[in-house]
Amino acid sequence: MPTKMVVFDVFDTLFANTHDYWRESFIRVCADQKLLVEPYILWDVWLPKEREFRVRRLDVDTMTPSPFESYTDVWTDCFRRAFDELGLQGDADAATELCLADFADRPPFPETLEVIAQLKGQWRMAILSNADDSFLYPLLEKHGISDAFEAIVSSEAAGGYKPHSSIFDVLFKRLDLTPGETLMVGDTLHEDVWGSHLSGMPSAWINRHDVPMNGRVAPTYELHSLKDLVTVLNEANGASQGK
Ligand SMILES: [Mg+2]
Repeated sequence: MPTKMVVFDVFDTLFANTHDYWRESFIRVCADQKLLVEPYILWDVWLPKEREFRVRRLDVDTMTPSPFESYTDVWTDCFRRAFDELGLQGDADAATELCLADFADRPPFPETLEVIAQLKGQWRMAILSNADDSFLYPLLEKHGISDAFEAIVSSEAAGGYKPHSSIFDVLFKRLDLTPGETLMVGDTLHEDVWGSHLSGMPSAWINRHDVPMNGRVAPTYELHSLKDLVTVLNEANGASQGK
């Protein structure tokens, strides 16, 4: 089946999002609020609470999601609990607001904007991101690429997180395409590769750090840079034209 649309994950696929950026935000939270704590200690107390959310939001054995919580609500709750635990009089809402603003300012990978411009007009494109709208849209708009995507579906808008089918279902309700006519491009084997597999989409796993493949299912393609995507799509297109 020919590929007609490329569906992109956003964080760590189109835009960088390492813990170093988070730590920078925590340094600024502590400085702005004049908190008497080392930023790395606040980070060490906050992070496990955030990780617990990533586990509880979907029971992967039964594929049962927990009631939907946005990142904004969860991060605020994590700050509130971390401040309490450390005996700090911090402002959890202000801390979250700073992190959200920083999230909307993550840098694109060096090849991202060039590849999006190259694909535009040749392939239909969409976004499927575990993100709140409050940081997803400003990020895409800042780099002038939001118009390149025919559909932008966030977990917040869908009320569900990848790999659960609910967010994929919202995407396909907006499109006139079958999953087999699309290609999911993402960095995580769990959310992007397995999630798209469950919805019948082929996938391209972007493995920027050359880590071993240890997911539940193998991706259809493996990329090391978004530049490889152009080659993969040209090959897929050429192969389908020959059929
Ligand atoms: Mg990602």
